[in-house]
Amino acid sequence: MPRNFAGLLRSLDGKPYGAYRDAVGAHDVGGGLAVSLDRAQRDPFAPPSPVRMNIPAEVAELPADALNDQRGRIAAADYLTRALADALAAEGFDRANGTGGSGRIEIDRPGQEILERSSVKLDAAGNVEIRLYAGLPASGRRIRGRAAAELLAEDLPDLVESVLREESRDPAPLRAHVELYRDQEWLRDQLPASGLVAFVGDGAILPRRSGNSDLPLEDSPIAFKSTESLRRSFTLPSGKTVTGMGIPTGVTLIVGGGYHGKSTLLRALERSVYAHVAGDGREWVITREESAAIRAEDGRAVTGVDISLFINNLPSKANTRNFSTPNASGSTSQAANLLEAVEAGAQTLLIDEDTSATNFMIRDERMRALIPDNREPITPFVDRVRSLFTRDGVSTVLVAGGSGAFFEKADLVIAMDAYRPLDVTDQARTIAGVEAPSESGSAPAKASEHARSLDARCFQPRGGHNTKPPRGRGLSAIQIGKDTIDLSALSQIVDSSQTEAIARAITLISQRREPASVRSLIEEVTALIDSEGIDRLAAGKKHPGNLARPRALDIAAALNRYRGLRLA
Ligand code: ADP
Ligand code: MG
Repeated sequence: MPRNFAGLLRSLDGKPYGAYRDAVGAHDVGGGLAVSLDRAQRDPFAPPSPVRMNIPAEVAELPADALNDQRGRIAAADYLTRALADALAAEGFDRANGTGGSGRIEIDRPGQEILERSSVKLDAAGNVEIRLYAGLPASGRRIRGRAAAELLAEDLPDLVESVLREESRDPAPLRAHVELYRDQEWLRDQLPASGLVAFVGDGAILPRRSGNSDLPLEDSPIAFKSTESLRRSFTLPSGKTVTGMGIPTGVTLIVGGGYHGKSTLLRALERSVYAHVAGDGREWVITREESAAIRAEDGRAVTGVDISLFINNLPSKANTRNFSTPNASGSTSQAANLLEAVEAGAQTLLIDEDTSATNFMIRDERMRALIPDNREPITPFVDRVRSLFTRDGVSTVLVAGGSGAFFEKADLVIAMDAYRPLDVTDQARTIAGVEAPSESGSAPAKASEHARSLDARCFQPRGGHNTKPPRGRGLSAIQIGKDTIDLSALSQIVDSSQTEAIARAITLISQRREPASVRSLIEEVTALIDSEGIDRLAAGKKHPGNLARPRALDIAAALNRYRGLRLA
């Protein structure tokens, strides 16, 4: 280990870019801090080089009470990632200042969710490891050694030290972030025993700034306020009490006029499988983790799914107990999405009429009269929503403003009226002429009975030259060899670092030699991450800087969308 990192980098000045290789390794930069250059990029235009910084506990001086449980460490790491990203931007390190990406230092950039991340690793003793990416300075293809020495041996350690000094001078903001996360996750833990699938706190701000911004609406949003009959109250571990609307297990229908906030509520529920940062507006919107947004997704591939609960007697004579297609229709894709989610362990389905196939959802009396049941392959969701709950234990929260067909199926009907919920269950039942929710038709098979067995080796990249391991491509795609998995319909994947983590999870899964169900594959990955941390997905690489924990359901959804998926 060379004693003087700055001197070493300066000595490379003017040499060809490849000589940065000589600086790879761990270097003491004084004050107990170490900087590691884990790999040197090949040229200034290549992806930036992975760099780590290690700060021992006695230098970092983070508040011990924030780090004494797993949730505290997740939230504190998320907090430090944000603080470092902000400091890097404030100092201008987020901009290149030479050839290619020269001089830029990056850290993963979290959005509105607090997620388990690999960008900062904290252990229970308070030692800190920061994972960054640096564009090694160049002028043309020559090393700028003095600039590199300044950047990596001085400016970066200074910046990290000053961020940590600020935290130990005033640990209150970090503690608040940790407490908020612990409270939100505690509340999520309470939902099953409280008989709830979700909770929406009074005062929550649900609408977002725009279709491409996840920030809260600025322009006079109406705060959420529960209706009296659904109001629940929880005293959190921090001592704070929250009140709000509890959405019970069962079938919940959200109705209301157009533009009254139905989809906004459902979307908030979809995203609130994750904890949110202070000021987001959704801090006290809490949804059970095993909740799956289900939509139509025509064009997707489906491999060997039993969709016979919804689809039978297709004119093509295709076997819907083992249904495969490279190009699903609106209704078959929605049926497959739903059944795959249940197969993977979904406990709650979140469905919006806006993104559903109408013929999958309902069929009215006139249509039943015109087209006899034996000529219609689809048994609509309205005929299955109750048995999904009573036989499979799967709840549904459904937005349906355009049809009263679900009135007699719902345990609860919420009307959104100018962004405020009302309990209109009784009126809806009176209109439907029922006193309690009713099943329809013959008792169907259980949705959760069918479990496919996969040949996980199908995820090994195929074909001669292109055998690179699976990698994330932005938020919504994963590259496997020459194939791409399209994740754009999966609204609960919220961070491109989750996409990257799913790609890495697929690599682990592809090493499974024996046939396995989707459920067991995702449970194995979950158990590995639980016991060894998110770093496990990087398979022993020293620098897994850009991973964020995905939900098991979203890993399964990605597996299911792979066009090369093979059953065992
Ligand atoms: P719906 O699904 O009932 O037709 P949306 O949920 O799409 O209605 O909401 C319609 C519009 O109202 C959207 O532009 C949304 O941002 C806005 N909106 C939703 N909730 C609120 C609120 N609480 N305060 C202010 N505007 C809101
Ligand atoms: Mg809508």
